[in-house]
Amino acid sequence: MAEILFQLKNVTYHYPSGETALEGIDLSIYKGEKVALLGANGSGKSTLLKILDGLLFPQSGSLIAFGERVSEQTMGNEEFSFAFRRRVGFVFQNSEAQLFNSSVWDEIAFGPVQLGLAREEVESRVEGVITMLGLDHLRNRPPFKLSGGEKKKVAIASVLSINPDVLLFDEPTSGLDPRTQRWLVNLIRTLNAAEKTIITATHDLEIVDQIADRAVVLDEDHRLAAVGTVDEVLGNLELLLRVNLIDEDRSSTVPRHF
Ligand code: ADP
Ligand code: MG
Repeated sequence: MAEILFQLKNVTYHYPSGETALEGIDLSIYKGEKVALLGANGSGKSTLLKILDGLLFPQSGSLIAFGERVSEQTMGNEEFSFAFRRRVGFVFQNSEAQLFNSSVWDEIAFGPVQLGLAREEVESRVEGVITMLGLDHLRNRPPFKLSGGEKKKVAIASVLSINPDVLLFDEPTSGLDPRTQRWLVNLIRTLNAAEKTIITATHDLEIVDQIADRAVVLDEDHRLAAVGTVDEVLGNLELLLRVNLIDEDRSSTVPRHF
């Protein structure tokens, strides 16, 4: 059995406003797998990714990551949080929330500079990611003036330059044109082939079999409704209907191969 990277035990999260986002979640994520996190709008997908990224801390239950407890206290320790940030990268749904430098080059260099890497290593990482993602023509542009798809690529580049072991993608294909969506699906597959562990929150059922081996389903009561192989989950129409991932008139929403 592969090594467990993340283990959530009975995790419950409520926002300060009192809104419940996650209720009693038990889940393990294994090294090198690719997982789709599925659920209707508001089911808790983004909240779960933020907990996995150490941005939010459950009020009850616990998260163990890389064998160590992740809590407000442990993340308050600079050495611990530095090591954690190096291993886990988060691509936000809204790329604009992630872009704040004055050029694409500086944006991609930001993480490696924060890591304290030598100038040469920073340059080699930035150039490597620019080549990999085909961003050469954008290197001097201000990120905030790019198109939506270009912003998404730069946001991904700024995470990849940190070279994390785990990548968390929140609704990565939303708002992208078909060609950029295809590019993103292929990128996720390439990264996974390079041994990255990848967790993608989405309600785009069309891409799930390409970006995941396993699927985790949240219901509208913010509980875990199912965990299984992609085929098991996508083949369970009763489940998909119950968690509001497909409609009664499912002809237009069910994945092509079912
Ligand atoms: P999803 O990503 O699956 O759409 P979220 O994790 O964003 O779901 O939200 C889960 C629940 O938490 C929803 O009921 C949502 O309204 C609520 N929620 C999300 N973010 C906040 C916030 N910042 N403050 C209060 N409630 C929130
Ligand atoms: Mg969300």
